[in-house]
Amino acid sequence: MNRKFVVPLVTFLALVGISLAAALQTNAPAVAATTATAAKCGAVRLAAVKYFTKTVSIMCDSKWMYVSSLEIPNDEMMVGITGWNQQVPLPFVMSDVLSTMWKIPLKAVYSKTTTATTGVGATALMVNGVPLFNATKPSKDGNQSSYQASADPLLTGELDRCDGHSGRGDDYHYHAYPACLVKALVTATKSSKAKNSLLGWSLDGFPVYGLSEANGAAVTKLDACLGHDLKNGIGYHYHFTTAAPYSPMCYHGVVPIENNPEHQPAAAAGRPAGGPTKVLITGMTFSLTGTSTLKYTYNGVEGSVSYTPAASADPNKQCWQFEYLNPPPGSPGSGSQLTCRAKNGKGS
Ligand SMILES: [Zn+2]
Ligand SMILES: [Zn+2]
Repeated sequence: MNRKFVVPLVTFLALVGISLAAALQTNAPAVAATTATAAKCGAVRLAAVKYFTKTVSIMCDSKWMYVSSLEIPNDEMMVGITGWNQQVPLPFVMSDVLSTMWKIPLKAVYSKTTTATTGVGATALMVNGVPLFNATKPSKDGNQSSYQASADPLLTGELDRCDGHSGRGDDYHYHAYPACLVKALVTATKSSKAKNSLLGWSLDGFPVYGLSEANGAAVTKLDACLGHDLKNGIGYHYHFTTAAPYSPMCYHGVVPIENNPEHQPAAAAGRPAGGPTKVLITGMTFSLTGTSTLKYTYNGVEGSVSYTPAASADPNKQCWQFEYLNPPPGSPGSGSQLTCRAKNGKGS
């Protein structure tokens, strides 16, 4: 087992009162002999995640990059949202079992035909471990793969100042250019050039860059999936754009069936989906081990949702004690409630 990879995860599990032994035991049947190590991910991938070791770890074998992530940025969240679905960001605890992790192809394969992204799950994973969804909310009927302004969460006030929010699984994710991630990179490197750096990987394995090229040049001639190959050694890659749809609505690479993001907490919702409501989220303090509090005003009245990790009788579940103060109509809870959800997104 690779030491570099294990340390942050062990630290986190210890912080939330879960022993690694327990985590491993729970998932023991899935453990297979593996040759994956962090070193096999290569210098570029390791450099991309090195500022986010509190939230993300990577390992690679000859075929895959395995990503273990809390799916929570070590950053501001939720502030500024005016159209709120009453969900909150809960950290997603992954064990260090490869089968429960994100699987991104190490060698992306370009396809002349494109595949639409679905709008109901991640299209890419950012270097801080936060998933990226496309700019269209899922419709009532399920998948939605084409951009529609009426279903763009940025235009409907549903995104925070970082272009993220929490989905129906209390899963935090981005829907547009991750400005706060870029800011974090600039701060960490003390260089504005960091905004040009690799920001994540599409689920087809191709890299995702920001609003400029890696060398700082302006981005030109993007294809319909917001990608291109400049023949400069980087190969085919995608970009974010400031104009809609902000991120790829389609893949130009082969998306392996194996990396369907079933390990997203959206598949393991612990609270009922909240009703949409017009609020202003005014503040959020987040703590992995202590109490997190999201504050808002609704109809001129201040309210809040607080939650604190709690012990779980079921080793497969993660629990929080929730406290709701002045919840708006459609709130997923009220008063003081214990809420638990499956530790990994599968089988819920
Ligand atoms: Zn969303
Ligand atoms: Zn480019």
